[in-house]
Amino acid sequence: MIHRNPNLARLKAGYLFPEIARRRREFAAAHPEDPARPETRIISLGVGNTTEPVLPHIGAGLTEGARKLGTVEGYSGYQDEGLAKLREQIAAVFYGAHCAASGAASSGAFSIEEIFISDGAKCDIGRLQLLFGAGTKAAVQDPSYPVYVDGSVLAGAAGDWTGAGYEGICYLPCTAENGYFPDLEKLPENALFYFCSPNNPTGAAASREQLIQLVTAARKKGCIVIFDAAYAEYIRDPSLPKTIFEIPGSRECAIEVNSFSKPAGFTGVRLGWTVVPKELKYAGGESLNADWTRITGTIFNGASNIAQSGGLAALSETGLAEIHQLCDFYLGNAALIRTALQKLGITCVGGDNSPYIWACFPGRDSWEVFAEILEKCRVVTTPGAGFGPAGQSFIRFSAFGHRPDVEEACRRLEKLRIS
Ligand code: PLP
Repeated sequence: MIHRNPNLARLKAGYLFPEIARRRREFAAAHPEDPARPETRIISLGVGNTTEPVLPHIGAGLTEGARKLGTVEGYSGYQDEGLAKLREQIAAVFYGAHCAASGAASSGAFSIEEIFISDGAKCDIGRLQLLFGAGTKAAVQDPSYPVYVDGSVLAGAAGDWTGAGYEGICYLPCTAENGYFPDLEKLPENALFYFCSPNNPTGAAASREQLIQLVTAARKKGCIVIFDAAYAEYIRDPSLPKTIFEIPGSRECAIEVNSFSKPAGFTGVRLGWTVVPKELKYAGGESLNADWTRITGTIFNGASNIAQSGGLAALSETGLAEIHQLCDFYLGNAALIRTALQKLGITCVGGDNSPYIWACFPGRDSWEVFAEILEKCRVVTTPGAGFGPAGQSFIRFSAFGHRPDVEEACRRLEKLRIS
């Protein structure tokens, strides 16, 4: 008989979102919806799943991708690292001359060999672990997107840390007291550090100064930052960096993962990318870029050609305008939710440069607040404790929803008012 991967036994309970879905099902079974009473319908502001249709120009790109596959001239098969045109376009749109140059290079622009098309950021976050192997130290912002921690545990990340979260993982608290930016003095040496900005779940977007501190600390301590920029297109404050690669020195210490999911509504289409700079080296001087090329060539056969055709359309001038429009729509939802919560006297952050609002319920257990909101308002949220120990007493509200649902949810939140 073959033994189970022992790391599977280290994983706690269910992954957060299936657990929320389970609790929602349980509640719905006990309190069935009555079609004659719309107020009994459950509204979800829980999972960060997009809800709005793909906009026309980007949609036409997807359709065109499918159509071409049905023609002799347009047919294409495997595209391991991704369509060269899409990689060029990503380099031009997101990683142009505004990126920090390396060493003597005068231009900051990335070459297409440094840009790898993926089937989404989450998939690459999992695969990236293969670069490092079991026993690697992993540090996360606390709270954080659960995949960093669960993925690290599965990959056998190990360190001497114990506490409220997973043993072996270093949690760096991001709280109101530190402005949701971790104390980098506590960043361990020679570790992988997962850093997400704009952040899921807190909604905090790191300033240039904070990212300079991050890069400085990572280089000093021999760390590699896995920078997750999945929400970069939600940034509206022009002073905030949209990529870690705007920061000098980042090419020697960072990998960036990104995605079309949240800006273009591709959560179900599946398309993302990862940037692995050629300057990035292991302790022994070997190239991570060369290894990532080898790994993706071995266990990944590329993203769907149809999705990549949609991605190309998304990065045209019209497509980028549609991305802006879609993100504005969700940011409009976020503003409604934030205002509704603030009217109730609930302290919250986020929602201005991100689609998440992080609301504080001091002294309360976040699963208990989740249950109260579900019972009183029939609104599904995400309990902060599911994102890490520092998420206790917080609730994450997601701005992904149809506008009438968000407006209705905001009206129902009034029921939380303590009279
Ligand atoms: N990174 C963060 C921070 C996310 O919140 C999510 C999805 O919610 C992802 C990555 C997943 O992105 P993708 O759909 O590209 O796998």
